[in-house]
Formats: sequence, C-alpha cells, structure tokens
Amino acid sequence: MANYLITGGAGFIGSHLAERLLADGHHVTALDNLSSGSMDNITHLMGLPHFTFLRHDVMEVEVLAEQVATADAVYHLAATVGVFNIIKSPVETIGNNIDGTEAVLRAASLRKTKVLLTSTSEVYGKSDKASFGEDDDLVLGPTSKGRWSYAASKIIDEFLALAYWREFQVPTVVVRLFNTIGPRQTGEYGMVVPRFIRQALRDEDVTVFGGGEQTRSFTDVSDVVEWLVRLVDCDAAVGQVLNLGNPKEITISGLADRIIEMAGSASRVSHIPYTEAYEDGFEDIARRLPDIAKVVALTGYSPMVPLDESLRRIHAWCAQRVEA
Ligand code: UDP
Repeated sequence: MANYLITGGAGFIGSHLAERLLADGHHVTALDNLSSGSMDNITHLMGLPHFTFLRHDVMEVEVLAEQVATADAVYHLAATVGVFNIIKSPVETIGNNIDGTEAVLRAASLRKTKVLLTSTSEVYGKSDKASFGEDDDLVLGPTSKGRWSYAASKIIDEFLALAYWREFQVPTVVVRLFNTIGPRQTGEYGMVVPRFIRQALRDEDVTVFGGGEQTRSFTDVSDVVEWLVRLVDCDAAVGQVLNLGNPKEITISGLADRIIEMAGSASRVSHIPYTEAYEDGFEDIARRLPDIAKVVALTGYSPMVPLDESLRRIHAWCAQRVEA
C-alpha cells in the first residue's frame, strides 16, 4: 500500500485517478483549490478511510511541503487548462502552471519524492508531422497569439521536471496527454467533446469551430489512468517524456456527426469562425496524432477503449445532468 498525493485531485482526470488508486488499496490525498475542479467529482470518495481531501492551492507551500513529505509519490495534475481559460486569463495560466510545478518540484526535492508531471500534446504546437514523437521539435506560434502561452508554460514545466531529475536527482516522469475525454470533464473551458454532447442532448446547434477538417485523437480517461498507475512504478520511465494518447484520429466535423447520431439528437451542425469562437488571429492546430511506441514499450499497455464507447459513457453521464 502506497501513499499518493494528487494535486488537482478534484479535477476530471485527478478524480478518476484517485478512484482507481483507492480501489487498488492505496492511500490518496487530493489537493485542489477547486478553481476548475469540483466537489461533485469526489463526493463518492469523501468518507472513505484512505481518502483525504484538502482544499488548498499548490502555491501554499507549507501545506504542500507537509503533504509531499509523507507521500510515496506525487501526481502533479493541478493546472489551468482549456483554450477558453488560456485566452481569457493568460497571466493566471502562465503563473499557475509554472509556479505551481516549481513549488511541487521544490517540495519533492527535500526527500527526492517521485513526481509524475502531466504535460500536454499542445507543446507540439503546429508541427505538421504526421504523428508526434517525444523527441520531435516543438513548433509554436508567435507570442502575440495568446494560445501559445499555455504550451510555453508547459514546456517550462517539462524543462523544470527534467532539470530537477538531472541536477537534484528528484525522480520525475513527464507525460504529454492527448485530448483526454470521459465523464466529469467540463465543457466550460472549451473542451470539444463535453460541449458537443451537451449541445446534442439539448438539441441545440453543435458548434464546429472553423472548417471542421482539423483532427484530434481522443483518449479515454480510463486508458490514461491505467498508464499513470503503471508509470509510477516504472523505474525506466524516470527522466523520460512520454506521449499518452490513442493513435486513432477523427475530424471535428466527423466527431460532431457521430455524437449527433449516437445521441439520436435533432441538433444540426453550425460552423463558427475561429475569430468569433476565440479571438482575432486565433491559430488552431490542424492535426494532432501521438506516436505512443515509447509508453507502450515501457508499460506493456495500449489504449483499450474505442471512441464510440467513450462517447457512450460520457453521453450517459451527461444525460443524468443535463435537462433535455
Ligand atoms: N472545437 C469546436 N467546437 C467547440 C469546441 C472546440 O469545433 O465547441 C474544436 C477546436 O477548435 C479544436 C478541437 O475542437 O479544433 C479541439 O478543441 P479542444 O479545445 O477540445 O482541444 P484542443 O484544441 O486543445 O485540442
């Protein structure tokens, strides 16, 4: 039995991870300031003997130090996420992501506690490679375009994690998540799947931004959690950067059609120009497909949940919460 600290433990991915680690018989402390996380995600865990929830920010260094000191490993998931957030509050995004990660790494350096840092496929930026490998160049747009600040902040986080390993021997693992989806993900910050499913449930227009030919590769949260659980025990993963994604891609228009059909919805697709959806001069990413050979070799695990099954699970979850 191990003792895990999850920053962002009341968030979408953090709460699924907490649930799984508890089911495996571990102790879990979830630290979350509830800025985008929610008590609804963890009510079912409250009261379990091996679960502790602490409503604190990772920047509260004393609380953080105390929790890291007693943890066998830290999953650092706390971050400002979502394209809407990044465009609306770039100062907060940059600050939270860099300062939060540094605070966690500094606390971990006292006892060389293992830290698993969640980064993002966004760091690949607008690379036009068919599929993204961890050692590929990262291709960002200019600093005048706010979107790239998120990738830049996560790139600094990655550099920090790798530097703490090389310089101070803090065992760190960096994972780049590719569009993870599942129940409890909110559409509030722009994420496409929960937005489309809610729109379909309400028979509202499904809002495809831009032409809809852009593609994404969606990974079910249960597959991501399986990898996170395996990687924390994997010595060979220390000091590595790993893509976690499902190498099946779909266009956003194709996704809209599939969701409307699955939901048996009367919704229609409406195309919204990027300038209206986000801001003037917004640059979208045309294609984003992971090469996952590295994580598959290290963990022996490949994603199991097909997109249709994921969408069904999310639809079922949303249907209980959305008034049709
Ligand atoms: N998107 C869309 N309609 C929405 C929300 C998002 O067409 O209501 C598009 C968005 O422009 C992007 C894709 O869906 O091309 C994925 O967007 P998301 O914000 O979920 O993830 P990211 O852009 O970070 O991959």
